[in-house]
Order: sequence, then C-alpha cells, then structure tokens
Amino acid sequence: MEESSTSAIPKVEVKAMEMHRSSSRPQLDVSGAAIQGNFEDRNPTILLPNQSDDISHFAIDLGGSLIKIVYFSRHAEVESELEDHNKRSPRTITRRRSPILGGRLHFVRFETSKLDDCLNFIQSKNLHRGQSFHERGISGFTDGEPIIKATGGGAYKFADIFKDRLGVTLSKEDEMDCLVAGANFLLKAIRHEAFTHMEGHKEFVQIDQNDLFPYLLCNIGSGVSMIKVDGDGKFQRVSGTNVGGGTFWGLGRLLTKCTSFDEILEISQGGDNRSVDMLVGDIYGGLDYSKIGLSASTIASSFGKVVSENKDLADYRREDIALSLLRMISYNIGQIAYLNALRYGLKRIFFGGFFIRGHAYTMDTISFAVQFWSKGAAQAMFLRHEGYMGALGAFMSYDKHGLSDWTANQFVERFPMGAPYSGGKIHGPPINDLNEKISWMEKFLQKGTEITAPVPITSPGTTGLGGFDRPSSREGLLRSDASANLNVGVLHLVPSLEPFPLLADPKRYEPNTVDLGDPSELQYWLTILSEHLPDLVDKAVASEGGTDNSKRRGDAFARAFRAHLARLMEEPAAYGKLGLANLLELREECLREFHFSDAYRAIKQRENEASLAVLQDLLMELDSMDEEKRLLALIEGVLAANIFDWGSRACVELYHKGTIIEIYRMSRKKMQRPWGVDDFDKFKERMLGSGKDKPKPHKRALLFVDNSGADIVLGMLPLTRELLRRGTEVVLVANSLPALNDVTASELPDIVAEAAKHCHILRKAAEAGGLLVDAMVDNQEEDPQNVSVVPPLMVVENGCGGPCIDFRQVSTELAAIAKDADLIILEGMGRSLHTNYDARFNCEALKLAMVKNQRLAEKILNGNIYDCICRYEPAV
Ligand code: ADP
Repeated sequence: MEESSTSAIPKVEVKAMEMHRSSSRPQLDVSGAAIQGNFEDRNPTILLPNQSDDISHFAIDLGGSLIKIVYFSRHAEVESELEDHNKRSPRTITRRRSPILGGRLHFVRFETSKLDDCLNFIQSKNLHRGQSFHERGISGFTDGEPIIKATGGGAYKFADIFKDRLGVTLSKEDEMDCLVAGANFLLKAIRHEAFTHMEGHKEFVQIDQNDLFPYLLCNIGSGVSMIKVDGDGKFQRVSGTNVGGGTFWGLGRLLTKCTSFDEILEISQGGDNRSVDMLVGDIYGGLDYSKIGLSASTIASSFGKVVSENKDLADYRREDIALSLLRMISYNIGQIAYLNALRYGLKRIFFGGFFIRGHAYTMDTISFAVQFWSKGAAQAMFLRHEGYMGALGAFMSYDKHGLSDWTANQFVERFPMGAPYSGGKIHGPPINDLNEKISWMEKFLQKGTEITAPVPITSPGTTGLGGFDRPSSREGLLRSDASANLNVGVLHLVPSLEPFPLLADPKRYEPNTVDLGDPSELQYWLTILSEHLPDLVDKAVASEGGTDNSKRRGDAFARAFRAHLARLMEEPAAYGKLGLANLLELREECLREFHFSDAYRAIKQRENEASLAVLQDLLMELDSMDEEKRLLALIEGVLAANIFDWGSRACVELYHKGTIIEIYRMSRKKMQRPWGVDDFDKFKERMLGSGKDKPKPHKRALLFVDNSGADIVLGMLPLTRELLRRGTEVVLVANSLPALNDVTASELPDIVAEAAKHCHILRKAAEAGGLLVDAMVDNQEEDPQNVSVVPPLMVVENGCGGPCIDFRQVSTELAAIAKDADLIILEGMGRSLHTNYDARFNCEALKLAMVKNQRLAEKILNGNIYDCICRYEPAV
C-alpha cells in the first residue's frame, strides 16, 4: 500500500464571494437581510429590507401599430418548486449563497388597436403595482403613484387612459434614445442576437463587443428610421422613409382584404409576383439587360405589369399582390438603408422593427437589396428581438437599473410552454398556475391537434376553446403565427453566473461538439429525444408517486416537449442558435415547468445505496495494488462506471439485463486498451513520473462528476481518494439542479458521508472541507491507513441544470474555487464529449467518458459504441 504523501495542507475556506459590480450596477444593500422561510432550504427567498435601488418592473413602447412590453419578474413559482424539491430530499446543505437580484425579462406585444387587452394584461399581472418587489420588501414602487417608462407616440396619446385605468403616470422617453439603447444592449449582452439571412439560410453571428460601432440601425416599424450609431448614447438619425411597415399593412389590406398582418404574409407565400410586377424580361422581350447587369427576372417596375396588360382587375390574385407588395417595400427599404450606409461609410446594417416578423421572404429581399447594391461589400443583419428595441431601451432608462452592465454570461434564455407565451401575442388571460397550464395543454389533447408552436393563435371567445384554434390554412397544425419564424424566450437574468476562469481562449470557446446546424444531426438528436420520451415520462410520473395528478402533469409535459421538438423540426433556428447542451437542458426545463423537480430521484437513491454497499470491497481491492496498477484500475473504474447513464438509450437497455455490480464488473473486464482515445500513459507519467523523481502532486483538482450510483461511488470517489492521498485538494463539481440521473451538489455530502464510513481518507478530507456536519459519520474505528493530515474535499455546484456544461456560464462559487486549480477532470459524455471535447484550459485537463452512442463513437473515435475516451491535455 502506498504511504500517504500529504504534507500539512491548510484547510481551504471558500470565502464568501464579494459581488464585483461596477458602480452603475444596482448596489445590493444586504444590511438587515433575512432569510425567509426555512434556513436549510437551498434557494431560500432572501428579504432585502434596505435595498434602495429602484428596480423597474415594466416599460412599454406604444407604437403606431403595436404595443411592446418588457417586464421583469421574480417568479415565486420556481422558488416554491425548489423548496418542494428540497423538502423531499433527505438533507439539504446549508450553503453560502449570494443574495440574488436575478429575475426574468419577458417580452410581450399587443396590437395598438387592442389597447384594452394590453391594459387588462398589465392589470392581471399587477405589473403596474410592482407587486412582487413590494412583497419582498424591495423598494421601487413604495411611495406615491407608480411611474412607468414609456416610449413611442402612444406614450403621449394614451397617457390619460393609463392614468385613469391603472393609476400610473407614463414617463416619456425619447424614441430614438430608446431604440439605440435597446439595440446596443441586445447586440452586446445577448449571445448570437444577430443573424444574416440569405436565400433562406440563417446564420447566427457573434458580434465582437469591441468592434460593434459604428453601424446603421434601420428600424422598420410603421414608419422607418435609419440611425447611425457610434456608441452608447452616441447616434444620429440620418434618414428614414414614410414607406414602411404601416404602408405595407395598410396598402395590403386595401388590396387583398386580409384581416390580419399574419394572413397577408401567409398568403404571400403562395404568390407569384411576375403576374403583377413588370420584369426586365417583360420589357426586353425575355432577354437580360446585361450591359447594366440586370437579369430578365429583375423587377423593373413593381406592379408595373398591371398597367400594361389588358386584364380584368378582379383577375389579379391577392396572393400575387401580397407578394409583390412585400417585395416592393422590403426591397426599397433595403436599398435606402444601403445608400445611407454608403453615405456614412458603414459596413454593417442591422434591421429591426416588427415589419420583419422573422419572415424569411422579407429578410431575403432586404439582404438581396443590400448585397446587390453594395456588390457584396455591405451586409444586412437581423435581430431576434427585432421589435423590442424601443421597449427594452425604455426599460433600461430607469435610473440605476444597471441592465446594460450585465453580460451575456448572465443571461439564460428559456422557452416555457403555455399562454401567454413570451414574445408572442397575448390571447386571453395570463396563465397563473400549473393547473391552468396543464388544462391549456389538455385542450390540444381533446382537440386531437398537433402543436408545432407554443403560442395560441386566435383571440379569446371565438372558438369555444378558450381562444385556441387552428388557423384555417394549416390543416391540423397549430402555429404561433403563420409567419413568425423565430420565438423569443424569457431572458433569465442570473447574476451568479460567470465565465470559468480557466478557459484558455474564452472568446473562441464553443461548448458544443455536435453542430445542430447540420440538419442530419438535428434530426438525429430530435429523434433520440423523442424516442426517449415515454420512458422519461414513466420515470417522472413514478417519481411523484404515480398519482392521477402526476399522470396529468406527465401527459402535459410530454405534449409540451413534443411541441418543442416539432417546432424545432419545422424551424431549426426558431429558438436561436441551439447547441446540443441547450436542447438537453430544454428537456430538463420542461420537466421542471410541469413540476417534476427530480424525475430520477428514486432510481438515484437505489443506485447510490447499491453502490455504497460494495464500495468497501472495491477500496480494499484497489489498496492491494501497487501505485501504477492502481492508477490504471482507477481510470478503468471511472470509465467502466460511466456506463450507468439514463441519458443513453443503449444503456437503458442494459439496465434491464443485470444488476449494477454485475454491469460494473462486466464493463471493467471489457476495458481493452488502447481505448478510442488513450492518453493514459501520458497521464500516468504526469502523476507518477518515469524515473526516480516523483512529480509534484497537483495542488487542487476539480472533478466534474456525472451520474449517481456506480458512476460517482465506484468511479469518481475512489479516484478522489487517490488524489487526496497524494496531497491534492479535491473539489467535486456537480449540477445545481437535477438532470437525468446526474448527481447534484446537494446530494453529494450525504453520499460522501456514507462513503466516509468505509474510508478514513475520505472522512478526514470531508471534515477538512467542511462537508461533514452533525456527526454524519459515527465510525470511530482505528485508522488502518494511519492518515494524519489530509487535504480538504469540497463540493461546489456548477450553476447548471442540464447534463452538459457551458463554461461561459458557471456559478460564482465554482469560478472562485477554480482559480487555484491546476487539474480538472471532466467525466461523462455530457460534459466531456457532447460539450467541451475541444475546449482547452489553462490547467491540465483529463477528459474521461465511455461513449454510449454509436453515432458519436463513429464520428469522434472512428470506433464502436462502449469505446472509451481518456484524453489528457497539459495546460495551454
Ligand atoms: P411601431 O412602433 O410603429 O408600431 P413596430 O416595430 O411595432 O412599429 O412595427 C409595426 C409594423 O409591424 C406594422 O406596421 C406592420 O407592418 C408589422 N406588424 C407585424 N405584426 C403585426 C400585427 N400583428 N399587427 C399589425 N402590424 C404588424
């Protein structure tokens, strides 16, 4: 047996993190802060009685055609959900947490002609009262009447109505100021906000913050504004045109008799503009006008053919008229925008405003105009939050709200199901509780209708279905709106997220290994998730006792998740730039939305118990080996135990065939080296050296753990123990929220405590790391390993709630503790293969995974399913 090589290593304390904030960011006054409710809860509500910053609740852009609202909420829903979850878990750790000033930004819109719906919505959500802040003792709406930031002409026009109906005063903010502030915020703080659109192909663009200015902002609302933006608050409205979205919609109504904007876009899709537009070929007898570079199909005169033909006006199809009109307006705006860009020497033009509506044809036409006239030198880009710039800018104009200081690392976009849906039109009363949401999903069940988008379409009272009906033109399919191709989710503001400090090249870091932009990959993963769904629903329902209520929720979850999958199948870019990590997290979020806080709870517990029961034997077996053999056995053990993964279809089949220990042993026996990627010898040399000189042990290792049961207990804990024995501090990094059968940070202390009963190294290390409290370990036997000083073993949460990890967004706790780490071990497919396989770090990295997916095995290893990855990379 190897002697312990530890020297006296000071116990490490994770110091309470200071909040590093710039002065304009809201300053938290935590004096007098008190935890509300149970102190033991992991996510307790924190009351900040002395918090004095104004925290804006909602802002509004009252445009000529549409009203846009951006509102901020702190949902009690999730807090209570987590509380529920914690109540059920055997023990929760008392952990230092920063008081979080997080929340969610919601985006909703109404037609200006339906101002009443908008007022009702504000009222029903109590937005005008700032109620949820009030309740939490956070000031902002305490004295006097509430003042709401508003922009757009309606801020003047409707001021009295707001006063009478809601008792609020609209504080008018300049429209251009707001547009620019909103655009700058979106382009800086939201990852992949902008995208190009050419010939039907969307490409998301990451704008370098340091290279954003100058640009031309072309906002196509009812009218069109063109603004040269040189910096924050630095801009000039250089041009505009009165031929804009209002013109399209107004003329369109006159000419086609369509009753909604979506309808006119929709019919335009079946149109052929050649029957109304005069083309170059019409003038030149079917020939190109090649001397000036015009092809026969170029439009010479929009609607020009109508005057040259002897046709009854009634014979012109509304579809063709709609398309011709759309092309005319879009093309014209694209051309004027380009001329202005040229005039001011601007290469980039961002187009926003709700005229665009994520409509492919509109964007293609604008892009074509810019490209054609600039001969490819200038580029049109579009924004996912196209119509919300003004409202966002107004929201940001609240004093000291600090929104512009948040970075992309602190925003997480989520796509909850249920009406009223974020970013969508509002139909009917808002859904306030889970029950209403379930009923909402059940309506689709009764109707036997397939959902392809989470947004209902028609106004309430017209269908007898609570406002949800199918659009007549799309048989059997419900869509949010016929033309909007992009969904805007809820932006979660999570101040406690930050980039992982050990990333070697944060700017170029891309977590996802698999590119879901490749249609065949997307199809493959959507199919996998779809096939896995029934099994997951069974587990989720069982985790809640199989009650009728849980069955209803399970059905609703399945419907909702299938709707997400269908939506993505139909429009892969609907939710923005989506990686596999996001897709897998979407599933977990959807489960949480229907209050399944931990679908694998029972399974995880069972597997932990079964594995802990054989841990002692395994440790004895390992201790009987020499150092070299043991290191190999430990790595083999991690890889073998990584077979236990409910995220893998192949593995789920295995589960039906044997017990945990049988599978583990069989799996270890089959470990044939060399593995698909086999850097074990390099790692061994780093750990043990080759000659007499023993290499220095690592100072601190971060072990990113994966599954519960055998994976953590028989794989990662023995490896942990070995590192501790060598004198390395170990930090186990685990999920903040459950995802599949992954072990979570709050479950780890109990597992470690149980394991520590069989091992003095683990016990002493856990004690040193503050993991063992209230006599969790009562084993006072002799210390057979004669261990005197052991470095600490700690646990931190990673800030994630999915099976992968995005190192741009980890918990502040992890970021702080990572600063002294010189080794990270990423374990499991989610964290080391689906994501981060290509990530490079400023410290040594070991990536360990068993590949339980044939496609990935072929693609990455050129190998077979169950092949393994042991990738060791020195510090960059
Ligand atoms: P404004 O602030 O002037 O209302 P928006 O950016 O909201 O500007 O865009 C308004 C334009 O969006 C309309 O003129 C029309 O072209 C288009 N639009 C998109 N959806 C709708 C809708 N449901 N109703 C009316 N107009 C819509």
